[in-house]
Amino acid sequence: MIFEDLGLSPEVLKAVEEVGYSTPTPIQEKAIPVVLMGRDVLGCAQTGTGKTAGFTLPMIDILSSGRARARMPRSLIIAPTRELAAQVSENFELYGKYGKLSMALLIGGSSFVEQEQKLDRGVDVLIATPGRLIDLFERGKILLADVKILVIDEADRMLDMGFMPDVERIVGLLPKIRQTLFFSATMPPEIRRLADSFLMNPKEISVDPPASAAETVTQGLLKVRGAAKEKRAALRDLIRSEEVKSALVFCNRKRDVDIVFRSMQRHGFSVAALHGDMAQPVRMETLQTFKDGEVQFLVCSDVAARGLDIPAVSHVFNFDVPSNPEDYVHRIGRTGRAGRSGKAFTLALPEEGKYLASVVRMIGKEIPKVALEGAESWDAGEAEDQTGRRRRGSTRRGSRSAAGKSSEGRGRKDRGERNRREKDRREKDLGENDGGERSRGESDRSAKDLEVVSFEGAAEQDAATSSGSTAKREKREPRRGKQKQGNDTLAPGETAFGDHIPAFLLRPAKVA
Ligand code: AMP
Repeated sequence: MIFEDLGLSPEVLKAVEEVGYSTPTPIQEKAIPVVLMGRDVLGCAQTGTGKTAGFTLPMIDILSSGRARARMPRSLIIAPTRELAAQVSENFELYGKYGKLSMALLIGGSSFVEQEQKLDRGVDVLIATPGRLIDLFERGKILLADVKILVIDEADRMLDMGFMPDVERIVGLLPKIRQTLFFSATMPPEIRRLADSFLMNPKEISVDPPASAAETVTQGLLKVRGAAKEKRAALRDLIRSEEVKSALVFCNRKRDVDIVFRSMQRHGFSVAALHGDMAQPVRMETLQTFKDGEVQFLVCSDVAARGLDIPAVSHVFNFDVPSNPEDYVHRIGRTGRAGRSGKAFTLALPEEGKYLASVVRMIGKEIPKVALEGAESWDAGEAEDQTGRRRRGSTRRGSRSAAGKSSEGRGRKDRGERNRREKDRREKDLGENDGGERSRGESDRSAKDLEVVSFEGAAEQDAATSSGSTAKREKREPRRGKQKQGNDTLAPGETAFGDHIPAFLLRPAKVA
């Protein structure tokens, strides 16, 4: 199939041709005609499949007729992270260059002023992260009553991040007559439930994940004996032994991003750092500098692991074994993209043995070991699990003998370790996205619910606040339920489509 077969306008086809795509990807082939028909879509697709163009291209055509009114966007795209939102807006700019669509990007951490001015003039496309959008709505700066197309991108990630109450709230503010496109990389039951409540008679589209990392990425594992200092030295040696064009260096924690960044800088590498505590303009600028090849290495947290499309990354170095095994796949998927080959190396200390085992379990095979000349490695028997206990049959170093510890002490240590891991995870999530840096309105709203406001508790608080607002809302209006089964159950004035009339019923049929 070719793009010309999909029903897109000559303007969009011209833009696509200029970008250099010759054939549509499977999701584009399946989704574009359905979106053009005005139907709801439930897409099960990961990033890397071309799904962004799968919804932006037909949206550009659908929105090409009609005009936006002040503060009333005609379409809304909700994305979990600022980077993904920015990437979607880049897609609109790229493919919409021969049209006249106006667009605003509302993401946390960047200045409101310019985007508000755009909104005041009226925009066709509004791309936003959930927290920022709610904030703007609450300040009366935006009206959602004219949204005809809603896109929810990376729904499973939004669920992971605790944004779903916000998303449900936003959907509740939209007109019931709309077209909804819902994308998620996975479809766990909770996502299904949400899809059932947001979508009406959707066309379900599922595509295989992009060529699995295993096919395009050569993986390697460097077992480092010692501590963080030795790891940094091993990283330098490893980098010097490779022909690195450009590389991402992932750390689990933001403070380690800073440490590794400074260390690499001291050792003369061309390097920048990226994590969620940085101001949004700095994040965007840093990413651009890296994309443009002005710096060779980007030391980053998992904020850069998902969805980001930087084609020329030749290497990924996991300075830490990710504590969440799925992050491993996302991280190494930043290289070997678009048919290129790439290399991904993971550095592991003995105490990361348990994380390593989880990664191996998830990818279903061992990561091939690599060795550096003159460097000491460790073997499986030496691995400490993350509770600090050695594996059976291994001995402890020095006086920190397991036998010498009371079980109470070990329990405490286990709890401490669990807490530490939980803290790491929250720290990792916080600030990586819009929820981590709630805008003023949001924090005002939540302040009274809080006894202790600590960095550690913020993620929970965020989710709790959101759930609270959902609960209140539910009191006022019952949750949008599943569609009614038969006409005999309809109340006067209700349609068989429940409270959502699919847009395709309202749009005149397109005659070829
Ligand atoms: P996405 O899944 O939307 O993040 O897209 C992943 C990558 O695929 C991006 O770099 C797009 O520029 C690229 N892409 C999208 N559509 C096509 C296509 N039809 N042919 C080749 N590359 C594409």
